[in-house]
Amino acid sequence: MIERPNSKAIDRKRRLALPHADPPIRDAEERARDFDEAYGEWDLDAARAEAERCIQCPAAPCVKACPVENDILYALWLLEHGEVEDAASVFRATSSMPEVCGRVCPQTELCEGACVYAKQGRPPVAIGRLEAFVADRAPRPPLESPRRTGHRAAVVGAGPAGLTVAEHLARRGHEVSVFDAWPAGGGILRYGIPSFKMAHSLVQDQVDWLAGGGVSFVFDTFVGRDLTVDDLFDQGFETVFLGIGAGVPRTPSIEGSELPGVHQATPFLVRANVEEELRPAEMRDPVGVGRRVAVVGGGDTAMDCLRTALRLGAQEVTCWYRRTEQEMPGNERDRTLARQEGASFEWLAQPVRLISGPHGRVGAMECIRMRLGESDASGRRRPVEIPGSGFEVQVDTVVLALGYLADRDTVARVSDLDVDDRSLITIDAESGRTSREGLFAGGDAVLGPALVVTAVEHGRRAAEAMHRYMTARGAGVPAGWSS
Ligand SMILES: Cc1cc2nc3c(=O)[nH]c(=O)nc-3n(C[C@H](O)[C@H](O)[C@H](O)COP(=O)(O)OP(=O)(O)OC[C@H]3O[C@@H](n4cnc5c(N)ncnc54)[C@H](O)[C@@H]3O)c2cc1C
Repeated sequence: MIERPNSKAIDRKRRLALPHADPPIRDAEERARDFDEAYGEWDLDAARAEAERCIQCPAAPCVKACPVENDILYALWLLEHGEVEDAASVFRATSSMPEVCGRVCPQTELCEGACVYAKQGRPPVAIGRLEAFVADRAPRPPLESPRRTGHRAAVVGAGPAGLTVAEHLARRGHEVSVFDAWPAGGGILRYGIPSFKMAHSLVQDQVDWLAGGGVSFVFDTFVGRDLTVDDLFDQGFETVFLGIGAGVPRTPSIEGSELPGVHQATPFLVRANVEEELRPAEMRDPVGVGRRVAVVGGGDTAMDCLRTALRLGAQEVTCWYRRTEQEMPGNERDRTLARQEGASFEWLAQPVRLISGPHGRVGAMECIRMRLGESDASGRRRPVEIPGSGFEVQVDTVVLALGYLADRDTVARVSDLDVDDRSLITIDAESGRTSREGLFAGGDAVLGPALVVTAVEHGRRAAEAMHRYMTARGAGVPAGWSS
């Protein structure tokens, strides 16, 4: 591997003058017709040229802004010199899924937002697409461990947090079993994030790679109903990781939300984006949207629903949000892509009633106009109803993307587990340890709806602590041994 640069020898003035080329992306009209990835392929020369724009800031603000502290400077230096595999291995040293994070991280709020170019109001180095570029071209080496320890760990939840734990424990020679309620692995990476943002084959590759390294997967198993955490300990797992996410939809009190043609975001995305055989039985039927689709909500999930509705053939797809664009929680890039693909936005408007159309299906939406009032606890200005401003719009489909909550019922079934008033699991931040001996947790189940990369970071820390916990207990049971 070539060495890091001598920071003093970097000609920053020359680099700052280098041209930037946006990562290739398919034409909006073309990409909105299919579910293939929106971004296209970079060629090596273009990727190297973009990497060379990095001025190797001594303070490394991009690294500090990355939740897993990827060594971005060194990886880009390696890429600039054509060392694609080495660059990928630098990303892999700190992240279990650079091909995923490179595609779906909100880089404008993390590494790229901290980039010196962005601070100057110029396009930042396209760190995310470069991360995905090198990771795609340098497949992971096989998951191998020099020895089998005989220690056994269970992971509940095959989302990014759980998969990261599985990787790190398997690497250390522990026997790992992953349990998940969905029919396949990936969590929201598969059952949420659409394939036009990230090809689902990447998720399957990761699950296959883990399985190839000895990790076993048990799908269609809901822990808390089909099996309890106590059962897992009774079965001889010495430690258990809860990576169950926060996937319970916020259900609004909008009259008419039970009408046919009104969908919650997750089943809508799953029915549209996931292969039929990998969907649960109740989500096998295809989703028809008609001509006019209203998506209610303003986060990343709402953007995914807008873009999905366009791909399903809807002609008028509108996001209804009760504040203004400035207060929207989602990332700007996804909003821009949705807009380019044909979605429109209605700010300061709130649906209050969904009205049945001629065939008993939703046919109209009654809304009221809002204005912004004082700031609330989140620091955003509160939307306030404008009396007498009600109006009605015609719709064929409504998708409710109003956010997610923790699974209160599942955590309540785990004995001796401390949770907060939102049913988020309380952990020791350094280790992911919960109030119950041997039980660890991380990802959205702890943070509430967050990011893939924060789930990966939690998974890495928890795996380290679970490893220490198991090895401190003494030798495991050798493989093949039975009482
Ligand atoms: C539609 C959507 C789009 C998103 N887009 C982005 C994005 O672009 N970029 C980004 O960084 N983040 C995005 N996020 C957020 C991101 O996906 C999550 O923060 C991340 O997946 C959390 O990982 P996790 O492993 O904690 O949980 P999850 O990914 O939610 O995985 C939890 C897993 O646990 C399983 N599970 C739950 N309860 C049980 C149980 N009782 N028994 C067995 N299994 C159980 C679930 O089936 C699931 O597979 C998005 C979220 C959504 C909903």
